[in-house]
Amino acid sequence: MTDATPSTSESFPVPGTFSPATGETRPEISATLLGEIPEIIKAARTAQVAWAEKPLPQRISAIEALGQAILLGHKEIAKIMSEETGRSELECTMSELVSLGAYIKAAAKVARQTLRPEKVALSALEYPGKRGVIQMVPRGVIAVIAPWNYPLANFWKPLFPALLAGNGVVLKPSEFTPRTGAWLVDRCNEVLPEGLVGLVQGGGEVGVALLDSDINAVTFTGSVATGRKVAVAAAQKLIPCSVELGGKDAAIVLADCDFDRTVAGIAQWSMHNCGQNCAAIERVYVEESIADAFVDRLAKVVGKMRVAQDDSFSELGPLQSHQQRAIVEDHISDAVAKGAVVRVGGTRTERGLGFQPTVLDKCTPDMKAVSDETFGPTVAIIRVKNAEEALRLANASDFGLNGSVWTKDIGRGLELAAKLEVGVALVNNHAITGTLAQTPWTGMKDTGFGVAASRHSYHVFTRPRTLFIDSSTKPDPWWAPANEDLQAMADALIARSQGSFGATLKLAGIVGRRVKAIQAFARGE
Ligand code: NAD
Repeated sequence: MTDATPSTSESFPVPGTFSPATGETRPEISATLLGEIPEIIKAARTAQVAWAEKPLPQRISAIEALGQAILLGHKEIAKIMSEETGRSELECTMSELVSLGAYIKAAAKVARQTLRPEKVALSALEYPGKRGVIQMVPRGVIAVIAPWNYPLANFWKPLFPALLAGNGVVLKPSEFTPRTGAWLVDRCNEVLPEGLVGLVQGGGEVGVALLDSDINAVTFTGSVATGRKVAVAAAQKLIPCSVELGGKDAAIVLADCDFDRTVAGIAQWSMHNCGQNCAAIERVYVEESIADAFVDRLAKVVGKMRVAQDDSFSELGPLQSHQQRAIVEDHISDAVAKGAVVRVGGTRTERGLGFQPTVLDKCTPDMKAVSDETFGPTVAIIRVKNAEEALRLANASDFGLNGSVWTKDIGRGLELAAKLEVGVALVNNHAITGTLAQTPWTGMKDTGFGVAASRHSYHVFTRPRTLFIDSSTKPDPWWAPANEDLQAMADALIARSQGSFGATLKLAGIVGRRVKAIQAFARGE
């Protein structure tokens, strides 16, 4: 997807000018000149210094105002997103705007807890007159590189905590969705100090230049292939990075599930955003005893879902690009060649890059639709003997983002969910925590080690700094000169750490003599 990168100047040739819903072309977008990137970073750094000095409550108020500015323009940005991705405006609003207000509130709470200075507890005997405090200091300027699938939410998830922590930020939208990113940065510049949030536009080449610039950390969301390159570039610069990459989420459907609700939930989370969701359910392991009934009903429900129609209530938008459609078609034909049955869908729609939502039954682990990320409106059904087989097959994956177990027996569901090799394990739901600011959105294996949201994401946005204050008027008893009392002190400290009460009593006397000896030594005696 990164082949179609723009030149270092002028404009985007394709993808940002192509409407996936209609196939029409739109006006070109200017890409950022590589030579302009240092100036953009410099502006963000200059603004960041004053921003970081503001007390946290002021930064929180500013982010709340930013949230209001975004929500004020919600119709406008939903329209832009809809044009760029082909999803309905309703779908863009539901996915990327309705939870924004709650996210900011929760993110502010997380920031208050995470950024609070932490006192260090010290023993008055070993550390007389001393105290320590750990502060969370902003890193400086954070690069946020995002994909196209949720062109607004992929930004606000790292943007708000990065700013709350006191950083400047430079956003790089996907070359497929540049207008959404530009709109967001315009809102930032309206409400926040000018330049604090910068924008670079372009494809992979611009991403590489951004990583090569004077940034202090990077959060990347995107494909595994690009994520590896970003992690290498960050390692070369010795800056922290968060990489949140692809997925191949599994759902385990047990025979005792709430049947209707489970069918509705699996249909929702396999087809949401046309399956172009890192946490889309792409594999369903269903117990044999209910498999026929489950697949019949799922095919019926999925078959009723509408694709990128003119009315605003279509459940699915189109695929984002021709490359994405080629992957979907390749996975379907590979599965069919290996024995899978297309129960519904499997074909293109007439308009744009629409594709009929597809249920593939009787899938096996050797199929690409079961092993590789499809990122499209397909769900592979794998029939299993029991929950244990389901768990083993679900974990036999290169990816590990979300995983879910669907059962009425919550205890058993929790037990199985805890054994899933994923970053987010759920019982009777899927992907729903993606818009929570309190919970880590994270994965394992090829999904990467990145963490979005929660206090665990702050490692990238802040560095811990130890402040140590010594108000003692006396020298420390272990300072030079070495003498017999220093040996006695060492022995008593060891004995004390092993629980000897007598050693504690003895220490007081030794420390007194040592301090006098050091003071005499300091006077040159
Ligand atoms: P991509 O890797 O092609 O592009 C992502 C971003 O990286 C784009 O802005 C792109 O221009 C930029 N880029 C490309 N090459 C670069 C380089 N060498 N250095 C720096 N930046 C570079 O991904 P995509 O196709 O836009 O997104 C789809 C992928 O994103 C899927 O695999 C999906 O699972 C994943 N995703 C993951 C999460 C998550 O939370 N784990 C969320 C959303 C999407």
